[in-house]
Amino acid sequence: MTQQYQQADKENERLRRCMSDLVSLSALPAMWVGGDLSRIGHVLLDVLSAMLDVDFLYVRLLDHDGRTAIEMARTTELMRVTKPSDIGRALSLSLGDVATDWPQTARISVENVMLSIAQAQLGMNGQAGVLVAGANRLTFPVQAERLLLNVSGNQAAIAVKEAHLLIGQRQYAAELDRRVAERTDELAATNRDLRLEIAERRRIEEALRDSENSARTIVDSLAGLVAILTPSGDVEVVNSQVIEYCGSAISEFKHWGENETLHPDDLPDVAQKFTNAITSGEAYDFEARIRRFDGVYRWFQVRGLPFRDADGVIVRWYALLTDIDERKRAEERLRRSEMLLAAGERISLTGTFSWRIDTDEILFSEELNRIFEFDGDVAVTVDQITSRVLSEDLPLLAERMEQIRSGRDNPEYEIRLRGSDNGIKYVRVVGRIIRHGDGRLECLGAVQDITQRRLAEEARDAIRSELAHFTRVMSLGELTASIAHEVNQPLSGIITNASTCLRILASNPPNVAGAIETARRTIRDGNRAADVISRLRALFRKRTAVIEPVDLNEAAREVVALLSSDLRRARIQLTIELADDLPYVGGDRVQLQQVIMNLLRNAVDAMICVDDRPRRLLVRTETHEGESVRMSVRDTGGGFGPIEAERLFDAFYTTKSEGMGIGLSVSRSIIESHGGRIWAAANDGSGTTMIFYVPRYPGASEQVLRSVDPKNVLDWAGKS
Ligand code: ADP
Repeated sequence: MTQQYQQADKENERLRRCMSDLVSLSALPAMWVGGDLSRIGHVLLDVLSAMLDVDFLYVRLLDHDGRTAIEMARTTELMRVTKPSDIGRALSLSLGDVATDWPQTARISVENVMLSIAQAQLGMNGQAGVLVAGANRLTFPVQAERLLLNVSGNQAAIAVKEAHLLIGQRQYAAELDRRVAERTDELAATNRDLRLEIAERRRIEEALRDSENSARTIVDSLAGLVAILTPSGDVEVVNSQVIEYCGSAISEFKHWGENETLHPDDLPDVAQKFTNAITSGEAYDFEARIRRFDGVYRWFQVRGLPFRDADGVIVRWYALLTDIDERKRAEERLRRSEMLLAAGERISLTGTFSWRIDTDEILFSEELNRIFEFDGDVAVTVDQITSRVLSEDLPLLAERMEQIRSGRDNPEYEIRLRGSDNGIKYVRVVGRIIRHGDGRLECLGAVQDITQRRLAEEARDAIRSELAHFTRVMSLGELTASIAHEVNQPLSGIITNASTCLRILASNPPNVAGAIETARRTIRDGNRAADVISRLRALFRKRTAVIEPVDLNEAAREVVALLSSDLRRARIQLTIELADDLPYVGGDRVQLQQVIMNLLRNAVDAMICVDDRPRRLLVRTETHEGESVRMSVRDTGGGFGPIEAERLFDAFYTTKSEGMGIGLSVSRSIIESHGGRIWAAANDGSGTTMIFYVPRYPGASEQVLRSVDPKNVLDWAGKS
């Protein structure tokens, strides 16, 4: 009985324990809140190892996808294998790989330890895992142990399920968060890009506005009229100058092809060129008249340029309209004046030239080409010019060109050209040397064909010199005849009387009274002859000398002017060096001019045959020792020999076929009568210098002047 009670007590005790264990198990879910699988495993094993008398407890929890997430184990010392994964592997070895196929209970050997095991699948078909307990006793598991395993397994399965849900939720939430974050990042990035893009766009817009503004400012500030056109050639924008000039709104300017903005005469040509340019995309350039606000048309140069983008596509046309009205008018005036000049040159037989001295670039006008008989199409060279000049005049040309090159004097000379018909052309060259800002020299000049004039002058001079010679011969003849006539009578009277006297004295007896009478008549006739001479002298002295202050410079200039055509004809280069502040000389202006004239004529005569050197004549005045004025006339003629030197001033000494040889003797007579002196000096080189001086005024005495030999004066006057 006692044994029965004891048995019953034990049973009760076991039941109570079982009940209390079941109660403990029911509290487990409260500990598993949070969905942590390892916590579920730990707690489950801790609770079961406190409730069950087993040698090992093993739990395998699966994740949501059925893969092993966690393996845990609790073992006693009996077990040599303690690592959960080793226990799991041993179970698989004994019971098979698929846990759901494992039997509820079994006996297996793990590392040579025989164990009774019991398993509880967690969840439907073991979806949450498996719980295995093993004990080294044959009685395992008893019913209560089986119950605890199943209940705890169920509890764990629920917890694992919840954990799966929770994990799934978390994963989903995390995924959601990740996606949200990802999207947020994406949006933020997009936002940032958008902001950047907006900022960039704004910046570009601002830059565009700025550049448009500055382009407009530039366009407005341009001196010309500017229009901006679309690629198809429609006017889009014009600057304020266009509006101002046309005095109309841009809308009018847009229709320039229809509203007479362009001069109707220019329109067809412009329209053609414009259309071609727009079609071909090539820049255009034309001149046309554009109407101003007041209806006046002015000339413009219109230049259009296409503006292309990076791909070469035309995005705009820029047209610049430059007012060239003044230039056009100037060109027209220039054309007219060129025409007039050409006509003037033609009429006056004067051509013009320009000669750039540094480059020898020579430009001839049309008329000058005609004068030189050049083909106007080719450039003129110095060699070509010299080839046309008469060889005798080449030294003169060379000298003048050298003078121009040195930039010293403005050229003015005459030269002869050989025409194609071998005729001689006389040309007169007058030039001006211009020194440009950069130091370059240029000679601008005119060349006049004076052949006709020169030929006429030569013909006239020939006639004049013939006439002069004839007059001279005639007047000399008349003079001789009149002297002969006047003197002849008393002379024949003297001869008759002397013959009568001789006859009377020779009679026997001599008629003394008659002889005395005829001797008286002889004396009378002698006196008559002397009277004739005296009268002639008085006649020759007709022009009484006048003493006055004479400006020798002025006197020389007048004589030079009188002789200028002779000098030119003889191609003599004349240099006049007249002293400033030259004192007056006292004397007869006409007589002194006769002396100067004589010296110049002799110099011209002396150079006429000189062809191997320049014919130069220098006339110089200077003050001589403060008291007198000295004049010299220097030539490059043939000079004179030592014997001639003695005789130059002798009356009737001449070496010329038509000379009279009294010029120098009269000159000396005049100069000496003025209290001066005259002499000839041979030059160092070729030629002669004739020099005279006369005292300054007052200083020459009337007395001295009166002693001029009147005969010489008269003879010389006859020569001139
Ligand atoms: P004509 O001129 O009539 O010969 P002149 O008395 O004036 O008379 O001159 C006399 C001569 O003196 C001239 O024939 C000439 O031989 C010489 N003679 C004059 N002037 C010069 C001169 N400048 N050079 C060389 N000989 C000269």
